[in-house]
Amino acid sequence: MIHTEDMEFAPRVISPENTAEDGDTEVTLRPQSLHEYIGQDKVKEKIAVYIEAAKRRGEPLDHVLLYGPPGLGKTTLSSIIAHEMGVNLRVTTGPAIEKPGDLVSLLTGLSDNDVLFIDEIHRLSRPVEELLYPALEDRVIDIIIGKGPSARSIRMDLRPFTLIGATTRAGQLSAPLRDRFGVIERLELYSSEQLTDIIRRSAMILGIPCESDGAAEIAGRARGTPRIANRLLKRVRDFADVLGNGQITREIASIALSRLEIDKLGLDSLDRRMLTMIIKGYGGGPVGLETLASAIGEESVTLEDICEPFLMQLGFLGRTPRGRVATVLAYEHLGIKPPESGVKNDGQLSF
Ligand code: ADP
Repeated sequence: MIHTEDMEFAPRVISPENTAEDGDTEVTLRPQSLHEYIGQDKVKEKIAVYIEAAKRRGEPLDHVLLYGPPGLGKTTLSSIIAHEMGVNLRVTTGPAIEKPGDLVSLLTGLSDNDVLFIDEIHRLSRPVEELLYPALEDRVIDIIIGKGPSARSIRMDLRPFTLIGATTRAGQLSAPLRDRFGVIERLELYSSEQLTDIIRRSAMILGIPCESDGAAEIAGRARGTPRIANRLLKRVRDFADVLGNGQITREIASIALSRLEIDKLGLDSLDRRMLTMIIKGYGGGPVGLETLASAIGEESVTLEDICEPFLMQLGFLGRTPRGRVATVLAYEHLGIKPPESGVKNDGQLSF
């Protein structure tokens, strides 16, 4: 077992999932129009065309599937779509629709062309998912009335609607469900420049004095994710109030983020624990995800959904058929000397 300072548990300021701490500000900071929605240009351009075309025809938008890591703006984009279409938005999640009856009441409660947003759509139960197929394809649902031998099924027409499904794991969606979405878009991690713009916009809305350099310092450590950028802005503001005159400068941001144990590249203690375990516990890998997760006492989904996309984007982590491997860049970042032999061209170590 390895014991380093990094292996200790620390609360995750940079979890991209929505937490109670984000509270009402998440709603306040949510852009209302495509124009205000920063980045994701290719997706935005296409969605703008689809919205315009649907409006001209007086039809609902085709069903949309948005996928990508948490905190990148899937819910935000859905509310913008509803807003720009001039229709209502109903928001729910896959696990919240427990029974087929729950889906029936959601669908029958919609008005013409409304948007139903289902987050974590990969977690729908099988019977609910099966009820959704004819609803998406033919705008009908089959309801069973009565029980036992006297039970019979009646078909009900639905009003025209758009389903927007969001998922962090498109691979877990069944093929029949995926095939019923006309528009499938992947949201990408944001660049530092885009996050700087998002932070400056949020600072303005929240009335936080923030210098461009200060915003850029926060953006560089927000691991490509607007939700994290906004949360860090609020934490750094506390330091600016206590340590300075309330103004977020590069220096204040840097001090605050170091105290929050977020390093120059945005890695936090969990990322470092994961990489340190691969390197020191398993000789750099390959090590299976489940083994790795139990070795550091974390859920494998947390590592897979939250740490891995970012560590892979940085080129610190490789996925091989035999498991996860740390790259030379990861050794260097952690200040650990890579083994002399076996460095491959792509920076991964061979074993
Ligand atoms: P997801 O549904 O993908 O988990 P959200 O849509 O809830 O992410 O976004 C999290 C927060 O990040 C939102 O409250 C919003 O303020 C901010 N945000 C997300 N995308 C953008 C964007 N493109 N421009 C500005 N702010 C954004």
